[in-house]
Amino acid sequence: MPVNKEAYNQLNTELNPKGVRLVAVSKTRPAEDILELYGLGHRDFGENYVQELVTKAEQLPKDIRWHFIGHLQRNKVKYIAEFVHLIHGVDSLKLLDEINNQGIKQNRIIDCLIQVHIAIEETKFGFDEEELIPFVDTISHYQMLNKANNIRICGLMGMASFTKNMDKVRAEFKRLKRAFDKLLATRNNNLQTNFKLETLSMGMSNDYKVAIDEGSTMVRIGSLIFGERDHQ
Ligand SMILES: *Cc1c(COP(=O)(O)O)cnc(C)c1O
Repeated sequence: MPVNKEAYNQLNTELNPKGVRLVAVSKTRPAEDILELYGLGHRDFGENYVQELVTKAEQLPKDIRWHFIGHLQRNKVKYIAEFVHLIHGVDSLKLLDEINNQGIKQNRIIDCLIQVHIAIEETKFGFDEEELIPFVDTISHYQMLNKANNIRICGLMGMASFTKNMDKVRAEFKRLKRAFDKLLATRNNNLQTNFKLETLSMGMSNDYKVAIDEGSTMVRIGSLIFGERDHQ
């Protein structure tokens, strides 16, 4: 399916004035679709399977910024550590530890977002809000021990419930924004070099408008640009 250029341009008109960044979610799409959007100047693409991401990264231009937006298994970090631009879904200390280890091997700092579980009824990955501050306290402690020098925490990511009830979605995004603000209040980006809290990744094709209303700084949009997916 070709890229819906009209939808893409419309998105840019909505997002650019607000400084909201767009990650084009290209999972399940062929490389040609990605190249088509690349040709329009787009550089940020999101994938949720490691193998698919690795294959595409090998085939496609090297200046693409690849976002890993899926559930990342620890034993797969090594395959993407060399090139990944931002890992959106950090949901455990063990995973973060492994990202740091792979960062050391690649001699780079890997940017990460912490995933927060905001969809009440759905069993999705991520931390509960009350676990968030203790988790980042642990990361700070790790940094003091020089055990977190190769990761950088750039913010939070969350997914709202999959529902047509936009009041519910809005309430979930509000909670995520509140968690983000709370986090900002407890960290000093200038003092803690492995925190650079500026990204709130929330909003997909069906709920991005609400997400932007509620303070999103980065949306992850697939079907609106590339058409409906057959699966996933
Ligand atoms: C698939 C996916 C998206 C994009 O979904 P669309 O409805 O196609 O916009 C965004 N975020 C994550 C984590 C996804 O897995």
